[in-house]
Amino acid sequence: MQPRDLSDHVAYEAGRGIEEVARELDRDPSEFVKLASNENPHGPSPAAAVAIRETASSVSSYPKAAHADLTSAVADRWNVADEQVWLANGGDGAIDYLHRAVLEPGDSILVPAPGFAYYGMSSRYHHGDVREYDLSKADDFTQDAETVLEHYDGDRAIFLTSPHNPTGSTIPLEEVAKLADATDDETLVVVDEAYGEFADRDSAVALLEGRDGFEARDDVAVLRTFSKAYGLAGVRLGYAVVPGEWADAYARVNTPFAASELACRAGIAAVDDDEHVERTVETARDSRAYMREHIDAHVWESEGNFALVDVGDASAVAEEMQQRGVIVRDCSSFGLPGCIRITCGTEDETERAVETVNDVLAALDLETGPSDEADDPDAEVVDS
Ligand SMILES: *Cc1c(COP(=O)(O)O)cnc(C)c1O
Repeated sequence: MQPRDLSDHVAYEAGRGIEEVARELDRDPSEFVKLASNENPHGPSPAAAVAIRETASSVSSYPKAAHADLTSAVADRWNVADEQVWLANGGDGAIDYLHRAVLEPGDSILVPAPGFAYYGMSSRYHHGDVREYDLSKADDFTQDAETVLEHYDGDRAIFLTSPHNPTGSTIPLEEVAKLADATDDETLVVVDEAYGEFADRDSAVALLEGRDGFEARDDVAVLRTFSKAYGLAGVRLGYAVVPGEWADAYARVNTPFAASELACRAGIAAVDDDEHVERTVETARDSRAYMREHIDAHVWESEGNFALVDVGDASAVAEEMQQRGVIVRDCSSFGLPGCIRITCGTEDETERAVETVNDVLAALDLETGPSDEADDPDAEVVDS
């Protein structure tokens, strides 16, 4: 027999790891720095690392108390009821739970292009369709209600990414409210705040709860993760904050124990480790500013822990940077074949990345002759 028709499904293209690249190029892993997956350059929250070590002896038990305790800690942090916090196996797991909760077969979701691939993958797993709204490069990937509404057609869920991966743009909460007002009652607006800690913006949790002058609403959910600011990408822990009205749905859609004992214990420790998050956010701010100032190509303003750089030929530049020991993300798979995304590293890593990208841009320029983009008929075609 065969699996069901999976021809619409695509494999997730993760950023490449140091081990993998070093082995392929037959080089020593220590020669490389990886700035391709928006991981935390300071590693995990130290408190979480201690908790993980201490939990080793109790992993024979299913995570029940730890799950409840972490749910409460996260609910406290947002000042919402425990039932509104849906812990999951990463932010990706939370996306799955939202789809399980809202999608009927054939329902569509509306996602940004360029954008995060997993929204669409998850919808398809749950027998849903995927439609796209465009964020325009010419418009610096500006996000507002109007841009989304132009493409809206009664979709069951709309994904907003704020800060947006891979561009770093954000959407004001007023625009999120406007969008939620303008769409059907049965359309869920999901605000993916995977990079929320890095942004100078309030969380869309205010919309669910009716805070800061917003009216409370039951058609917005917020997504958060421990993978980025907390440095716990490897333990897989994330969550959705959902409207109070959804209280009993979680028990019906969650995979039992998908947030592991190790993940929950790490999360409980990390939630209180403000120092690590503050240090991480500060490093990202400095790194972003340094890249914008010193890279010899356009760098978009970003509120995330990464910056998008307009290099012309992403695969050539990423490939050559990798040869020189700096692994960055070629954004072709995001639909931006002219851009690379560089994760904010430590000061040293950022300086090395900037020097390398500048050297590579200069070297490729030499090879092809000084770039005359205006004269090159192919120059702008790539991003259409
Ligand atoms: C990293 C990321 C997530 C969640 O990642 P997990 O590791 O599964 O928590 C969600 N959305 C976006 C846009 C991301 O970049």
